[in-house]
Amino acid sequence: QRVMMGRNLYKAINDQINAELWSAYLYLSMSMDCEAKGYKGIANWFYVQFQEEQAHARIFMNYLNSRGEKVVLLPIAEVKTEWDSVLDMFKDTFNHEQKVTSLINNIAAIAEQDRDYATVNRIAWFIDEQVEEEESAREMISTFEAVEGNKYGMYMLDKELATRAYVAPSPLAAE
Ligand code: MG
Repeated sequence: QRVMMGRNLYKAINDQINAELWSAYLYLSMSMDCEAKGYKGIANWFYVQFQEEQAHARIFMNYLNSRGEKVVLLPIAEVKTEWDSVLDMFKDTFNHEQKVTSLINNIAAIAEQDRDYATVNRIAWFIDEQVEEEESAREMISTFEAVEGNKYGMYMLDKELATRAYVAPSPLAAE
């Protein structure tokens, strides 16, 4: 007889799928705002971010499925569609990723409380990932602060960010 995952833990992970898809939608919206403003390279950077967030949702979906739990999709809430500047987008990105980190930490805490070590292991990848997400958002903030009001700097940065390419995260690499 199968031992079910704790219901609080199940709910936290199922909700996290929605949170990752909302993140994807937020970064897609930033990407579209950049496209509208002529920043094709920065739009590309956020589009890759959109793809990564979908991959995060996929990892959680695969995990619930592998535990014999059903994924129940929830409505995706509306996102902001217009930012005053690219710097503001990265400030929102940083604040948002800090919130995601606390959601991930909460899943880890419930998993530990439940002694659900499979989930403790799975969530460890996300804990590391969040350190990278926060670091990269912080670096983007300093970078865009450095070129504020400088059109040539913005042009060069836009060119640089055009080179970012999507790479499937390691938990999905075998798919
Ligand atoms: Mg994510």
